[in-house]
Amino acid sequence: CGIVGYASLTNTACAKPLEVCLQGLERLEYRGYDSAGVALVAPGMGKVAWRKKAGRLNNLVHSIESQPMPEATVGIGHTRWATNGEPNDVNAHPHISQDEKIAVIHNGIIENAAQLKFDLQAEGYTFVSNTDTEVVAKLAGKVADTIIAETGKPDLFEAIRRTARMLTGAFTILAVDVRQPGIVVGIRHDSPLVVGLGEHENFLGSDLAAFVAHTKQAMELGQDEAVCISGESIEVTDFDGNPVTDSHRFTINWD
Ligand code: GLU
Repeated sequence: CGIVGYASLTNTACAKPLEVCLQGLERLEYRGYDSAGVALVAPGMGKVAWRKKAGRLNNLVHSIESQPMPEATVGIGHTRWATNGEPNDVNAHPHISQDEKIAVIHNGIIENAAQLKFDLQAEGYTFVSNTDTEVVAKLAGKVADTIIAETGKPDLFEAIRRTARMLTGAFTILAVDVRQPGIVVGIRHDSPLVVGLGEHENFLGSDLAAFVAHTKQAMELGQDEAVCISGESIEVTDFDGNPVTDSHRFTINWD
């Protein structure tokens, strides 16, 4: 339902990913939601750090206060409006790849999730939730491993584009990977995604409210486009990896 993503440079005094994500989710509360969660990544992490809770955003905040999360360079946050699987802690986002190196959040519905899940289960992948989104996380993990086997290095941007090409339905998806702790990748199909352009920090959101507190410079991602943000760069391509250079940039006029 609500999506926020944040990437910064570790050596600058930018806002912390967790703070940006929680503040963004608070701003997105008006959309309505039943659960909330965040995932954080920093250099040296073996597994994604994540936390998610059914109910009000405060449940998530209290959980993090009583059991703090690690410092991070990038983060993603989600408020869920359940479509596949009841609202509870396990079905809340983020969802995590089998090796826990990738975390995914998702707005929309994956229509071919049942078939993809069936195929993944036949290959030994196990599922803990009833959501369509966990299928994306497990699939992205599998594709990421294939790319590493092919090229010898991780490429989350390409992994998520390849994953996008296997999905039908409506989706805005963000992903982070501990092997590339400086980036957040996003894709969209029949569901919105906007980019916020900062200084030594960049943002992603399901709408401008996610990051308007931090920057007024924004860019709209087109249909079937993918974006990779770091603290200092924004790269946009189509799902095949061809560069997109004519993205619609604008200044937010917010009263
Ligand atoms: N279909 C996903 C789920 O039920 C995402 C729902 C949403 O857009 O929040 O978990």
